[in-house]
Amino acid sequence: MSPAYAAAMRWLMGGQVYDVDAGTFWAADIGIDHGRIAVLGAGAGSNAGRALDDEMIDASGLWLLPGLIDCHVHLTLPTDAGDPAAAANRSDAAITLYAAGAAARTLQAGITTVRDVGGWNYVEMAVREAVNAGSIPGPRMFLAGRLLSITTSTAEYYPGMYEVADGADAVRAAARRQLAKGADLIKVMATGAMLSSETEDSRAIQFTLEELRAAVEIAHDNHKHVAAHCHALRGIENAVEAGVDSIEHCTFADDAVLRRMAAAGVALVPTLCAGELLFRDDAAVASMPPHLLARMQEFNDVHLAVIRRAHELGVPIAMGTDAGTPGNHHGLNAEECVVLSQQAGLSPQESIRTATVNAARLLRQADHLGALDVGKHADVIGLRANPLDDITELTRVALVAKAGDVVRDDR
Ligand SMILES: [Zn+2]
Repeated sequence: MSPAYAAAMRWLMGGQVYDVDAGTFWAADIGIDHGRIAVLGAGAGSNAGRALDDEMIDASGLWLLPGLIDCHVHLTLPTDAGDPAAAANRSDAAITLYAAGAAARTLQAGITTVRDVGGWNYVEMAVREAVNAGSIPGPRMFLAGRLLSITTSTAEYYPGMYEVADGADAVRAAARRQLAKGADLIKVMATGAMLSSETEDSRAIQFTLEELRAAVEIAHDNHKHVAAHCHALRGIENAVEAGVDSIEHCTFADDAVLRRMAAAGVALVPTLCAGELLFRDDAAVASMPPHLLARMQEFNDVHLAVIRRAHELGVPIAMGTDAGTPGNHHGLNAEECVVLSQQAGLSPQESIRTATVNAARLLRQADHLGALDVGKHADVIGLRANPLDDITELTRVALVAKAGDVVRDDR
């Protein structure tokens, strides 16, 4: 198991451990060595199975699941204001401090891994460095750097987030710039956005098929993946045709393109929280410009119906919230699993899969994340009650461990 001279192991003892594939809990001890699960089994941490100096953590009474993965966040975006333009001129120093706080709140909520699909002047890269060095708390971070976009007035809303590139050659160069900065994926705008300037149409096509292909070529040649922001149907079709790995939002999809996504294994990242949590935050709604509020109201139900249909047609869904949009506060991420289960037709087991195995597969981290198995990172959340009976339990974590380090214990 581990050599006698190895550092002491840490054990989570006596909890109910979730098997993501089986959808069942079983009584097991989790033995953690160097941040990974080394031993897993009923009674594995009994006197015979451990060393004298091992550290024992009592997990009895807790329902233990893999740490959750959010595949669509913007750690640098402030969530209090309803008007994105109001946040356009913040200093990089202020944004860095904000993002560090957002990272801490996200981890505290049991989100042990995030994919940031649009940062701000690469300050999120510095936040990741500090997290990885152990200087500040935060989740594992997979980063896109700036998102790639055509020339659009919305770039003035988010000047630190948009990397404007027109034409396939410019897209290749822009993708290479993100990779040089340390990006793990490339984010492309295949269509207009909802939270955009008044003159931008969310139903407009932005990057052409040729431009999308250029982004996919550079990303895949570098063993990275591509996330495509898509509302309009033809933008979704172009992105799937170009070979992207995930469709973000997917608002105006039809059955034909959803079937193509299911057949090709293209992940759908729903971001239902962007609408759901906005309308729970009166201050954000009150400060939102009328053209944005109208769009959010008009398209919320359409979006929900498409996600429900996608699930029926077997499209792999990976959890993503768009945390960072107005009212969509960092740390409320698990609400997405609740909405998926209560409003989009997923069972609690299926909803948990979106934030664990499905998300890990999209991140190309299935060997390391998304399940409580021997060899995987010991990213664990503990709940006081069974989330299969009440999915809202995911929003009330009692214990959070990342790489075996307990960063929250409310007991
Ligand atoms: Zn987003």
